[in-house]
Amino acid sequence: MNAMRGNLGWIEVICGPMFSGKSEELIRRLRRTEIARQRVQIFKPQIDQRYATDQIVSHNDARIRSECVSTAAEVQTKVDLRTEVIGIDEAQFLGDGMVDLVVRLADMGKRIIIAGLDTDYLGRPFHPMPELLAVADEIQKTLAICMQCGNPAKHTQRLIASEELVVVGAEGMYEARCRRCFEPNLAAEEIRSKKKAELVATVK
Ligand code: ADP
Ligand code: ZN
Repeated sequence: MNAMRGNLGWIEVICGPMFSGKSEELIRRLRRTEIARQRVQIFKPQIDQRYATDQIVSHNDARIRSECVSTAAEVQTKVDLRTEVIGIDEAQFLGDGMVDLVVRLADMGKRIIIAGLDTDYLGRPFHPMPELLAVADEIQKTLAICMQCGNPAKHTQRLIASEELVVVGAEGMYEARCRRCFEPNLAAEEIRSKKKAELVATVK
């Protein structure tokens, strides 16, 4: 980040697929603000309870303490006016209210660092990440490594059958894939064959 004078508000967004190092990068930036002895608050969605309720945990086991929230409104009520830096992980799960909130917080002079998935399991923009990218001062797109071919990966491949937009999981349920290896229809085909198997089982 550029050197800044005074408490100029600032919005940073880190986006990319699963396993691309978003949480790792978020934790790295937040650690540095702690070293600078700034007042920091960190939030993550309630929905994501995979490893810990009071910590953000990256896939390579970097950790930092965090508070659980369900909505943007809850973030607003929990933000202390004295807080200088706010970190938010998995922002795609916190709803459209996030956009106005982070703009307001930045206008108040706070530095906001947001991480989240930019696309869903079908490769569609995952709201409100596109809107957050639009209001950001600085953005970083992280890429993972394709688990099929080793190329840079921008997609999150769902490996299990589900039509739900949100299925929280990690290794085994999702993997990173490059543009060429990404198969959005795989999820749909899995669902179709699962339904067919269920139908056959009921008929029997
Ligand atoms: P994200 O928040 O984007 O899901 P994390 O920061 O939690 O990512 O995890 C990044 C770490 O995941 C990497 O440093 C690496 O150790 C591990 N990892 C596992 N699978 C992959 C992959 N396919 N590509 C890149 N890193 C991977
Ligand atoms: Zn590939």
